[in-house]
Amino acid sequence: RPKKSFGQHFLHEKRYIERIVSAIGPRADDRVVEIGPGEGALTLPLLAAAGRLTAIELDTDLIPGLQARADGIGTLEIIHADVLKVDLSALAQRLGVPRVRLAGNLPYYISSPILFHCVDHAAAIEDMHFMLQKEVVDRMAAEPGSKVYGRLSVMLQLACRVEPLFTVPPGAFRPPPKVDSAVVRLVPLAAHERHDADPQRVHAIVKAAFAQRRKTLSNGLKTLLDSEAIASAGIDPRTRAETLAPEDFVRLAKLPI
Ligand code: SAM
Repeated sequence: RPKKSFGQHFLHEKRYIERIVSAIGPRADDRVVEIGPGEGALTLPLLAAAGRLTAIELDTDLIPGLQARADGIGTLEIIHADVLKVDLSALAQRLGVPRVRLAGNLPYYISSPILFHCVDHAAAIEDMHFMLQKEVVDRMAAEPGSKVYGRLSVMLQLACRVEPLFTVPPGAFRPPPKVDSAVVRLVPLAAHERHDADPQRVHAIVKAAFAQRRKTLSNGLKTLLDSEAIASAGIDPRTRAETLAPEDFVRLAKLPI
């Protein structure tokens, strides 16, 4: 039976499984890496299409059943680990490709940490198709000025093209989660589209700017940049973080410390 502590909500509605698999469009010999395969609702059709698949699963109890179900369908490698501790760049290298294709109906209790982890390894990822809480997908795709625009929007949009695909109702899962879900496609930006600021500095500035949404930028960034510096980047220090475009944060991160 599904375990709450592992965020286990297994997909059972065929219609949605098919929509996700067709959104991914796995081709033979794609290096697909699935996060949290569970009982294999997505694993088996993906495996059938790609011929091989690497799955990362934390729950030991699920592994023998999953391995058995893959028998005769394709080559399934199961990594028994916490995905946050898996070096995805090293995994791509071991699989012999510059970039892997990531997929997963993610465990919602750690969806943001997983997203940040993937962003850290964006250069080793071709694309990602994830099921998440709809509310999280809304935040990822939000534009400046929106109520839900924040740290997740900026960090994701600086690394990827964010493309919400469709909503999935609680009834598609067993047991049903309390919230609506949505599937999102993330395509990491090409090297020439990526910003060239220090990622840690960007992270620190975005985090501080949104830590207290009500504060002005100069207040929020007090310990990192002074008002004159903010103004020198062409940004009004009295404005609030939620009005800034993702690129504005990059400009702030590039100011001399
Ligand atoms: N893909 C399956 C499906 O759609 O039916 C299961 C999805 S379920 C929402 C999330 C899965 O992630 C579970 O199988 C759970 O055991 C696994 N999981 C939870 N935490 C994990 C972690 N830190 N690393 C890897 N897998 C994890």
